[in-house]
Amino acid sequence: MQGFVHSIESMGLVDGPGTRTIFFLQGCPLRCAFCHNPDALKKAGGRIMTPEAIVEFAGRYRSYYGEEGGITFSGGEPLLQGKFVYRSLKLLKREGYNTCVDTSGFGDPRYYQKIMPLVDTLILDVKAFDREAFRELTTIDGFQAYLDFLAKLDLYGFKGQIWVRHVMVPGLTDSEESMEQFIRLLEPIRAKVDRIEILPYHTSGVSKYRELGIPYRLEGVEPMDKERAKELEIYANKLFAAGLREERAQNGKAREEKYRQLKAKEIASDAEKAEMFQVLRGLPLLSDVPEEDVSHVLSEVILSSIKAGELVFKTGDAPDFMYLIYKGQMKIFVNTMDGEEQIFYIYRDGDFVGGLNLLVETPYRYIGQALTDCKVVAIPKATFDKYFYNSPAVLRSVLSKSFERIRWAEELIQRLATSNASMKTAGLLLKLVKRLGVETEEGIRLELSMSREELGNYSGLRRETITRKLGEFRELGYIELVGNRVIIVKDLEALESYVY
Ligand code: SF4
Repeated sequence: MQGFVHSIESMGLVDGPGTRTIFFLQGCPLRCAFCHNPDALKKAGGRIMTPEAIVEFAGRYRSYYGEEGGITFSGGEPLLQGKFVYRSLKLLKREGYNTCVDTSGFGDPRYYQKIMPLVDTLILDVKAFDREAFRELTTIDGFQAYLDFLAKLDLYGFKGQIWVRHVMVPGLTDSEESMEQFIRLLEPIRAKVDRIEILPYHTSGVSKYRELGIPYRLEGVEPMDKERAKELEIYANKLFAAGLREERAQNGKAREEKYRQLKAKEIASDAEKAEMFQVLRGLPLLSDVPEEDVSHVLSEVILSSIKAGELVFKTGDAPDFMYLIYKGQMKIFVNTMDGEEQIFYIYRDGDFVGGLNLLVETPYRYIGQALTDCKVVAIPKATFDKYFYNSPAVLRSVLSKSFERIRWAEELIQRLATSNASMKTAGLLLKLVKRLGVETEEGIRLELSMSREELGNYSGLRRETITRKLGEFRELGYIELVGNRVIIVKDLEALESYVY
């Protein structure tokens, strides 16, 4: 494995936090009018290095990096040499280096998911703020691809901070209106942005173009006035801060509203609350709460009565609460693009949801709705952080629940993708047997809180199909239907033979 390195700066101070060694890599698909390194645009060329050589080189300067500093990959466009950057970052991270990548977002997307979790600081070069200006400046119609790159950073697993940079060219983006466009562009990554810098355009790279005999597209454009660039940088930062404040205020309001809604449904009796909590303490999730903390926890959690059909949380809700079901059943689902409801899980007594959201601080991606009247314990994030965050029992429970959900989701995908209607129906019944089945003399009794339509949504079938299939299974003697809400499984083996 080898990479092409245009040049190395052993101890730089501006390309990422602290003192850093910067590897400028060859290759870039853009052709920015102001590019200072036209000789670095070809992917091949420069010095050939292996990832091991990068680590060895970094080692020579390690004692200068201090707490903040480390290694930066810049360019060119470093993400173009995705495999090389990935391998190098992996080795560097193994050695404990702080890492930074300076990118315009036009690399090799096959490696984004591997690279991004290994990056501590991403320096994002924002070339222009609309499609036309982007094309004019870079010669590439890539503005939408750039926006997609920004929007997917979370999905690629990037957890670090972002420094945003923009080279300001007089007559192109040196206006307050442009700064407003600029800040709007950053909305999808707002929570991660740590600084916004405006770099005034200068003409010191022009001589390189002359030497290489390449026409310079900004011929005649004066360097950007540094004071004006600073003024606009301050303006952009103020706008950004105002946006953050507004978002925080909105989140705060949403949190208060959620709290108010849950409180409005709170179970009034202290005795009932105490009894519920004692039962819940038998669960692995709460078993670690020390006796002396129980009354504090009890005073902070909200024990609510939720009526069948009411929403407990919805897509996009901030990770402010996790929910533990004391009694009843809740369905977790999403609305698909074609307007169907896809149910993922049915949760019941003792199950919880949202633990992982609180741990990794990501919003809810699905909807939780009570299928029956439920009693639900809402645990606020602050309580979770104070009493549960460091508990091995809680972490174990959250992990095993997450694993269970992954398996469940895998089975669901398999069921939806590969099964025919008989297999899907049998698979669904077997799932329900596992979750709700009660052994009786007549067979395994399933008391359902779901309508036929919801059963269909759970299994990827239409209501008519699931009704027809259940009818067929009844005729075959596999099940008995008692009204609309009870199924008695008479022949488990027969159902299993469809699935396994
Ligand atoms: S992205 Fe950077 S390296 Fe690529 S053309 Fe633009 S300025 Fe040059």
